Amino acid sequence: MLNKLSETIYYLSNQDDRERPTLGLVCGDQFSLVIDAGNSTQHAQEFLHEIEKLNLPPIKYLVVTHAHRDHILGMNEFGAITIVNRQTNELLKEWQSYKFDDQSLQQYVHTHQISAKCMEIIQAEIPNRDSFQLNAPQIIFDNTLTIDLGNKVCIIEKITSTHTNDSTIVYIPDEKVVFLGDAAYGTTTNSLFHFKQASLLPMIEDIQKYDANMFLLGHESICDTVEMTIYWEELTTANQAVTSTSLENAIACFKGENQRDPNDNELFFLKAFVNDRILQSQ
Ligand SMILES: [Zn+2]
Repeated sequence: MLNKLSETIYYLSNQDDRERPTLGLVCGDQFSLVIDAGNSTQHAQEFLHEIEKLNLPPIKYLVVTHAHRDHILGMNEFGAITIVNRQTNELLKEWQSYKFDDQSLQQYVHTHQISAKCMEIIQAEIPNRDSFQLNAPQIIFDNTLTIDLGNKVCIIEKITSTHTNDSTIVYIPDEKVVFLGDAAYGTTTNSLFHFKQASLLPMIEDIQKYDANMFLLGHESICDTVEMTIYWEELTTANQAVTSTSLENAIACFKGENQRDPNDNELFFLKAFVNDRILQSQ
């Protein structure tokens, strides 16, 4: 179901069991803008079906926050001008070359380009797969782009991120709402989940410069300022304690600095920063 955040902002909640991220909708007087395209044709169609019921201004723009499969595969359904940063555009070119018939999908699973779960979702939720090809975006920007939907300004920016090097956020100043996509998350490299230590503080600085009190995240739906502040604190406290590839040392350092044991989130982050050290040392 579509959630109404304000008179002009809606979002469709993430569905983790189906690998579906949060999708957003911002409405101006003249046009609407969608944030992220969904993980399949079906996901996008379900979102569009919900939007149709509300009699809102027509969808003119689609912003894709980064080139991960679950955020892009519904792109063709919106009939919108698709906006991405330059790096996302480069990454999408690979997806545009993909074929989606069973044989090709099995090949991609075999070469670890997609997971078996991803193949299952594509097979179940993209009809006419034999002729399916992902469209190319129409607007490519480098750092920042401002769109006015009619008394509704959206600031679209590429930011530093611990998740990918191609993360875009959408900030709606008059609503103090920011759509972060997956920017604030970690990532998996060579089967190791990690947070890029080098990107953490620049990312937090990039995000905190927006005067926002609601944060939409790709796989959490919505966080308020208090929740976001706790998230940043847990991340930065864990980050400070990790100076080597040893989890044992990191936990000891954490206890020494904070005079307490790490909580579950902090322990998760400690492991992720240690993994980053391991990956950096390879
Ligand atoms: Zn992602």
